[in-house]
Amino acid sequence: MKTFAELDLIAPVQKALADENYKSPTPIQAKTIPSAIRGRDVLGCAQTGTGKTAAFAVPILNRLGSKNRKALPNHPFVLALAPTRELAIQIGESFSTYAAHLHLRQAVIYGGVNQMRQVRALNRGAHILVATPGRLLDLMNQGHIHLDQLDVFVLDEADRMLDMGFLPDLKRIIRQLPQQRQSLFFSATMPPNIVKLSQTLLTNPVSVDVTPKRVSVEAIEQQVHLVPRQGKQALLQQILKSPGVVQTLVFTKTKRRANVVTKQLIRKGIGATVIHGNKSQGARQRALEDFRTGRVSVMVATDVAARGIDIDGISHVINLDIPIEPEAYVHRIGRTGRAGAEGVAMSFCSPEERGDLRAIEKLIEQKIPVVSGELHSNTDQQHPATITPKNSRDRGHRNAVSKSSRHASSQHQSARAGQKHSGDRTRKRRQPENGKPHRKQDRAKQATGSGQGEIKLITHKGFGFIGNGRDKDLFFHRSAVEGTRFEDLQQGQQVSFTLGQGPRGPCATNVQVL
Ligand code: AMP
Repeated sequence: MKTFAELDLIAPVQKALADENYKSPTPIQAKTIPSAIRGRDVLGCAQTGTGKTAAFAVPILNRLGSKNRKALPNHPFVLALAPTRELAIQIGESFSTYAAHLHLRQAVIYGGVNQMRQVRALNRGAHILVATPGRLLDLMNQGHIHLDQLDVFVLDEADRMLDMGFLPDLKRIIRQLPQQRQSLFFSATMPPNIVKLSQTLLTNPVSVDVTPKRVSVEAIEQQVHLVPRQGKQALLQQILKSPGVVQTLVFTKTKRRANVVTKQLIRKGIGATVIHGNKSQGARQRALEDFRTGRVSVMVATDVAARGIDIDGISHVINLDIPIEPEAYVHRIGRTGRAGAEGVAMSFCSPEERGDLRAIEKLIEQKIPVVSGELHSNTDQQHPATITPKNSRDRGHRNAVSKSSRHASSQHQSARAGQKHSGDRTRKRRQPENGKPHRKQDRAKQATGSGQGEIKLITHKGFGFIGNGRDKDLFFHRSAVEGTRFEDLQQGQQVSFTLGQGPRGPCATNVQVL
């Protein structure tokens, strides 16, 4: 199917799509819309970024627009369930956009905010209700929502919904749905529990599969940067300062790490904001708005929070941590290269993450080019954190291949080179910390290393430990801290240091927050 005109859509919907400059349906739309218009149930395997919102919104609006029914107070005709507040809001915005020339009302309800306005919208009557499961059940229990008039039920991002522990809520909601209805079910992945859930909901569905793999990531240039965990923050900062890196979404594995990374970027003068599940609704909206409007150029996010983020113009997605679930990779990188635009997705891979990277490559049936880095495994084994040994050259960093990463990679090289120089510099300055090294050659050996690591522990007795999660953590004394008060150091901060020799073995000196 080449154009929307070939779909049997009413004029107001056609006009709204033309206003949006949608020329032709995306594959999920081309496959879903005709069946959904005919009233069939749909089982769609598709991720955000494929145009799946319009795939279900357009046939729904076509149906509502043709019937021209008046909205009934507290009795929606359409219910779209989404796992997160952000996604619910975005679905609501999409409905509004595609319904621009129709006289329909909708309500979007989600938790974390006062329910008053939401209840008012429901009392006024809404044709379409977009909801997250918790708030929906809450307002159903209070008698503000009745589902007996429902014509269409949409379940979006079903896999994420189960990941987030919504299955019991979903079951409760499903029990309230009328028997006679159309159901449109979307999930990015189809593990057995999702298939089972879909079977309880759908009757003789049309299956539509636009599973990511190669197709959806075609417009995205993918890169791997091999870098030890301790070097990730410095590499991130270098890349973010490169020309052409305009608007970047950075993914971390945990909320805590997202917070730490954001703070470090801000400290380095890089405008950054953070979004994750522990943030209040207001904070999340502010973060999205700051990022959307370009007030900040970087948003650090966790997987759950980033689902459904639909911001055009994200030039780069950086996986600071490789996701454990391979499917999450496709979701993450799908935030860039949206609707045909070009984007770059970089994945920082440390030695311990290589297995996760291989699982991703297997899923997308593609080898992702390594554009920078070499894993200095010997060095890593020798030292508690990444040490740049004397005379080491960054051989791996010479092989930057990709067009848009060339600059970033050369910056990466100079970052690493800078690390080496700083090591050299401190080597000249460095004094034995306490007592003398035992032997002359030891002294020479000790004086060669600088590195980076994460603060593991700060004690009230005036010392701390830097670690990389594998070897013994590296001790440092408060007197070794430079540029920051010892009292201001926090667990989780990335620091650079020079390897020194304390009375009981190796220790860190010249500890500086990155
Ligand atoms: P979604 O997968 O629904 O999150 O949509 C991803 C992006 O694609 C959104 O920014 C939509 O506005 C855009 N989009 C959806 N359908 C089309 C289309 N047929 N042509 C161009 N852009 C589209």
